[in-house]
Amino acid sequence: MKQDPILERAEKLMKPGEISSSGFLGNDNRKLVDILLDDGQTVASLNLSHEILADRMEELTEKAREYLGSPVLVDGYLEVTIQDSRGNIACPFQHMGMYPKENVHVLNVKTGESIQWTSLNIHMIREHGFYEGKGSPFRVDPLDLVRVLGIMA
Ligand SMILES: [Zn+2]
Repeated sequence: MKQDPILERAEKLMKPGEISSSGFLGNDNRKLVDILLDDGQTVASLNLSHEILADRMEELTEKAREYLGSPVLVDGYLEVTIQDSRGNIACPFQHMGMYPKENVHVLNVKTGESIQWTSLNIHMIREHGFYEGKGSPFRVDPLDLVRVLGIMA
């Protein structure tokens, strides 16, 4: 699909070495607009929304912040650990403000599966519907997210 100039600019800033050393696109060769559309369809097909997913991520992040560095069990099945790696990162969609580079790790103790994210992931999912490209070290695949967190529509 044709991509507007705002997304074109964001896509350039997502390349390795611009905002982050590893970039946001991994080895995904799709245009940003198509990455956004595909993940948007995945989330819609589950009768969920970016906002619902971001809200749950934010809720878990806030619970873990109270126990910085130590794991906290949430809802009896999610073990959440937050690590502050110091420093901040900007949004590649060119918003004002910076996002702390804290790393949130969630283990589903029932299934043994885990997933991780940063504050920037939550912001990009909520505001831009962006989960990062395939192969990116910080991609939060929406199907993995829904499965590991046990989110129901
Ligand atoms: Zn943004």
